[in-house]
Amino acid sequence: MADPGHAPAHGTEFDVLILGAGSGGYACALRAAQLGLSVGLVEADKVGGTCLHVGCIPTKALLHAAEVADSARESERFGVRATLEGIDMAGVNSYKDGVVARLHKGLTGLVKGRGITVIEGRGTLTGPREVTVVGTAYSGRHLVLASGSYARTLPGLEVDGERVLTSEHALRLEHVPASVVVLGGGVIGCEFASVWRSFGAEVTIVEALPRLVAAEDPASSKALERAFRKRGIAFRTATRSTGVERTETGVRVDIEDDKGGTGSIEAELLLVAVGRGPATDGLGYAEQGVAMERGFVLADEHGRTNLEGVYAVGDIVPGLQLAHRGFQQGVHVAEHIAGLDPVPVPESSIPRVTYSHPEIASVGLDEETARSTYGADAVETLTYDLGGNGKSQIVQTQGFVKLVRQVDGPVLGVHMVGDRVGELIGEAQLICAWEAHPEDVTPLLHAHPTQNEALGEAHLALAGKALHAHG
Ligand SMILES: Cc1cc2nc3c(=O)[nH]c(=O)nc-3n(C[C@H](O)[C@H](O)[C@H](O)COP(=O)(O)OP(=O)(O)OC[C@H]3O[C@@H](n4cnc5c(N)ncnc54)[C@H](O)[C@@H]3O)c2cc1C
Repeated sequence: MADPGHAPAHGTEFDVLILGAGSGGYACALRAAQLGLSVGLVEADKVGGTCLHVGCIPTKALLHAAEVADSARESERFGVRATLEGIDMAGVNSYKDGVVARLHKGLTGLVKGRGITVIEGRGTLTGPREVTVVGTAYSGRHLVLASGSYARTLPGLEVDGERVLTSEHALRLEHVPASVVVLGGGVIGCEFASVWRSFGAEVTIVEALPRLVAAEDPASSKALERAFRKRGIAFRTATRSTGVERTETGVRVDIEDDKGGTGSIEAELLLVAVGRGPATDGLGYAEQGVAMERGFVLADEHGRTNLEGVYAVGDIVPGLQLAHRGFQQGVHVAEHIAGLDPVPVPESSIPRVTYSHPEIASVGLDEETARSTYGADAVETLTYDLGGNGKSQIVQTQGFVKLVRQVDGPVLGVHMVGDRVGELIGEAQLICAWEAHPEDVTPLLHAHPTQNEALGEAHLALAGKALHAHG
C-alpha cells in the first residue's frame, strides 16, 4: 500500500508510469525498477490485481480444498479409512485468504524493496502521458496501461451478489450452496462447477456453445464432459439462458437449446461466468486518442499503442486473458522501454490450464486449426492414454496426452487431460515453442514414475518407437 508520506508532489515525472498493479502492471514495474528506471504504479485497489486477490490464486486454493475433500470421500479406494464429515467454509476461506495474504505481503515487500512508488487511488488519463489520481497529476516519460478486466454479464441479467453472482462473489461465499446453475462452460465456469461439486453441491452448467471449454481441442472437451458426467455435474451445451427470475428459495433460469427446446432449472444460486471484458471505460483512454476496438486497447508486438510512449499490457489487450501472458507482456514492455531488445511474447505458444478435476492443459494448435493451417493431410496426431502411465494409475486419474504435429515436421500442439496435467505444460511449451520434432524429444529422459513420462511416451509413439503403448 502506498505511504502517503512518500507520495510524489504534484507534477512528479517517472520514467515509467503504470496504470493498474495487476499481473501485467506489477510485473512491468518490478522489471523496470530492476533496470534502473523510476516507476510510479497507480492502483485503485490492491497491488496484485485480479489474479492474486480474486482470480488465479484464490480459485486454485478452493480447488485444492476440493481435492482434499475428494481424497477424503474416496479414501476407501486406497484402503484408507477416512470420512468426509463436511465442508467448513469458514475454514476453507481462512486457508484461501491466508494464502492470498501471504503472497500479497510478499509482493508489496518486493515492490517497496525495488523503490517503486505506489500511488493509491483511481487514476484517469488526463494528458498524453499523464494520469490524475485524486486531484494530483502524475506524468511518465512512458505510460503503461494495465487496467485489467471485469466480469461480464448478459444484457438484462442483473448481478445482485446474493442470488446471482460473479466469480468475485462466489469466492466470498460463506456456505456451500445446495445447488448452483453456472452460466458459461468456459475455464472459470468449469473450475467453480468442479469445486462446488466436490463440496457436495448439485451443479448444472449452461453453455451456449456446443461443448464445454470450447476453446480447447474437441477431444479435451469430450474427456472433461465424460468426467463431469461421472462426477454428477450436469451440463446443457448448445443451450442459452433466456431469462432469470429470483424465486423464494433462489433462482429460476429459463433455457432454450439450439433446436428450440425450452425448459427451466431452479437452483439456490446462479454464477454468471460468461467471460471478462476490458476495464477501459471512463478512464480517459478514448478521450486521449488511444486506439481501441470493442473496448480493448490495440497494441503491437512490443505492447505499443498508437500513441507515442504509451503501452498496454494484460487483459485489456486482445488475446488470451491469462496472468502469465500479462506478466510476460509487462516484462517485455519494461525491457523495451529500457532500450533492450526483448523477444515479443509468443501469443501462439501461451500455455493454457483449466484446473478442474480433471485438469485440462494445452499449448499450441488444436487439431482442427493445425489441419486448416497446414492442410488436412499435412498434419498427424497421436493420443497416448494415461492408462499406460504408472503414476496416473497410482493417483487413479484418467485422461490422455494428444500430440498434433506437422507430418515430418515439428510438434504444433499438445493437449492433455487428467488430474495434475497442468504441471506438465512447461515441457509441452518448450517442445512447441522450440519447434521440436518428436525425434528431438525421444532421447530425453523422463523420471519414473511420473506423469511426465506420458509426454515422453507420446513422443516415442509419434516417432514410431512406442514403448509402453499397445498397437
Ligand atoms: C476467477 C478467475 C480465475 C482466474 N484464474 C486464472 C488462472 O488460473 N491462471 C491465469 O493465468 N489467469 C487466471 N485468471 C485471469 C487473470 O486473473 C488475469 O488474466 C490477470 O489478472 C490479468 O492481469 P492484468 O494486469 O491485465 O489485470 P488485473 O489483474 O485485472 O489488474 C488490473 C489492476 O488495475 C487496477 N485498476 C483498474 N483501473 C484502474 C484505475 N482507473 N486506476 C487505478 N487502478 C486501476 C485494478 O484495481 C487491478 O488491480 C483468472 C481470472 C479470474 C477472474
